[in-house]
Amino acid sequence: MSLVLLTHPLIQHKLTILRDITTGVKIFREVVGEIAMLMCYEAMRSLPLEDVEITTPVARASSKMISGKKLALVPILRAGLGMVDGIISLVPSAKVAHIGLYRDPETLQPVEYYCKLPPDIMERDCFVLDPMLATGGTAVAASGYLKEAGARSIKLLSILCAPPGVAKMEEEHPDVVVFTCAVDDHLNDHGYIVPGLGDAGDRIFGTK
Ligand code: URA
Repeated sequence: MSLVLLTHPLIQHKLTILRDITTGVKIFREVVGEIAMLMCYEAMRSLPLEDVEITTPVARASSKMISGKKLALVPILRAGLGMVDGIISLVPSAKVAHIGLYRDPETLQPVEYYCKLPPDIMERDCFVLDPMLATGGTAVAASGYLKEAGARSIKLLSILCAPPGVAKMEEEHPDVVVFTCAVDDHLNDHGYIVPGLGDAGDRIFGTK
């Protein structure tokens, strides 16, 4: 697995806003969307281009467009939903698949309760959206479901990672590239990333 650490100052600045306990739900939600958009921009850096002939107001020109790659966003419910709109504003034609997984609070293992993927998932670049890569159980399970459905190109966009999640993805899905803004220190006894930003779903949806 390769890990791409996004060190751009704008991303790091916005990440600090997310980490801050005084950031309220409105700003938190907006900034998650903005960071997702910037992460998508980086994750699409390697897409192939093709030459196209166009006419500008001044002359005929040969120019570049992204060549035929199709994208599927795969938010992991519920926190991953917070990353969808920012990315859709950059790539409006992307399909949105959904995978519903929650972490059993006792075992910390992922339990699936919903999965709806587009039928042509095998032809699409899949961007799995999960703001927090903590134990890695959820991202590993989601990547497994996508592969079972035929997906061949998977990237994981996680705003924050913890070392156990990174190691688990490396072990189980070495072909999945992980894009993140930071790898934090450790997980606490409740499976939260430290220092982290708290419960991403609760902070996006204001449920705590
Ligand atoms: N999920 C979260 O929302 N936060 C964490 O710190 C870990 C998992």
